[in-house]
Amino acid sequence: MTIKRRFLLMNENPEQQQQFAWLPEWISPYESPWSIFEKFKYANRATVKDLFDLFGTSYTKSLKSKHLSQKACNLLTLEGLDESLLKLAFGLSLKEVNRRNINMLTNILPGDQHYFFHKLLKLCPECIKIGYHSIFHQFSLIHRCPFHNVSLVEGCPKCKRKMSYHLSDKDTMEPFRCKCGHLLFSLKNGQRYPSSWEKMNLQNQSKPLKYWITFNLENVHEKIFLYFQPDLDLQKNEGVMEFILEAISPSYKTNQSDLHREVKSSPYIRNFQKQEKTKSFLLTDECEFELKKAIYQSSTATIRSIVSNIRKKFFDHSNCIRNFHNNHYKPIKNCPYAFAFVFWRTFNEGDDSIYDGNRRRKDIPFFNSLEYHFATKQDHNYLNNLLFRVRTHCHIDNLAAIKWILNRVMSHLTLNHLKNWLKIASLNAHKSMKFLTVPFNFEHLPFYLVIIPKNLNEPFEFHWWPRKDALQLDNLDQTSLKCPLNKEETR
Ligand SMILES: [Zn+2]
Ligand SMILES: [Zn+2]
Ligand SMILES: [Zn+2]
Repeated sequence: MTIKRRFLLMNENPEQQQQFAWLPEWISPYESPWSIFEKFKYANRATVKDLFDLFGTSYTKSLKSKHLSQKACNLLTLEGLDESLLKLAFGLSLKEVNRRNINMLTNILPGDQHYFFHKLLKLCPECIKIGYHSIFHQFSLIHRCPFHNVSLVEGCPKCKRKMSYHLSDKDTMEPFRCKCGHLLFSLKNGQRYPSSWEKMNLQNQSKPLKYWITFNLENVHEKIFLYFQPDLDLQKNEGVMEFILEAISPSYKTNQSDLHREVKSSPYIRNFQKQEKTKSFLLTDECEFELKKAIYQSSTATIRSIVSNIRKKFFDHSNCIRNFHNNHYKPIKNCPYAFAFVFWRTFNEGDDSIYDGNRRRKDIPFFNSLEYHFATKQDHNYLNNLLFRVRTHCHIDNLAAIKWILNRVMSHLTLNHLKNWLKIASLNAHKSMKFLTVPFNFEHLPFYLVIIPKNLNEPFEFHWWPRKDALQLDNLDQTSLKCPLNKEETR
């Protein structure tokens, strides 16, 4: 079924009636431009090309439909469309409303706002029955419809065909009809369009989202930069919005509040710079070299203290560790602690790391390269990426502050690696194993968040939420990790 083209004309005189079918009531609060334009196309048997002919900028109007770029069809920026023409036709500054809705959701988030919106269309199976789609559904920190409290679905609810969040006719047979033939909204007999378009009465039922909007509108972002883990898949992590709320508002509690942990830096962290030589390290190559060296040295000191701490916790297994290492990783008495400790250090700090730092001098990295170096090799890319983002998104160019954030995150990652090794050890310590690469990435990493106040005299905050099922390094005795050798010794 293809749409029969008919000519639609735009009457640029606001006094005169338009020649196409449209009622301002068809737009509901927080409605996304996607469903607004689907409604327009549906009511007027129009195509995306018609939309551009009517409302396009003078540039996009001149283009053939196959030449319309991704940019022109972007539903977040609406940059292919002309604001005054849209206002004339829809009775609303669509671009402005869309911009405001996006800001309302992303004001307090770091970096590019558009990063936080799904590229693929997400639908609420209930909302779409009345032809409604909300900007909330596209926002990646929302996983359930705030009006119906049901899980969102990607693409067609019937055949699961993916559709892009884009001005396009490619994903549909005709407006609101999936290529599988399924009509996305329900239509009663004899109706030409759903009467529900006119009398939508949706209430935001989501408490976190209400708080979230308030925080965004109160411009919390003028006080703080928020920073959270760059590897995080927002589609899978349902709790992120609530975690952020709990971190920025003392009165907000999630159902994981008892797990919430927080450390603060000194409030003067950004004044430390004056005492450091690398004051203007951004300016010259020499200073960049000094910065790299300082970051490396600081990360080395951090790792050394973590390792010495773990050594104390694993003290009963000192012999196991020595034997395991000296016997080329053959587990003589299958001690899981030795297995985890040796592999952890080998991959984290390098092959020779198991001898303590003072017994052997480690290779000093080449600080003239473009990248930064850290005492942990395993997280080299992660930390480089983090450093880049912290400097560009949060505009932090103070050495003490950079070191504080990097060392916090590095410790967080490193301890999680150790826990992952312990998990592997509990299953494999009795086998003779060699690993060529680390058999995990960031599995089980507790969610973390850095808060960077814009007020230069306030401390940085590092927040994290350990998982309920996580190993506790302080009471490993109570886990299934048993060392047979150690039992024999103590007897
Ligand atoms: Zn819904
Ligand atoms: Zn379908
Ligand atoms: Zn042992």
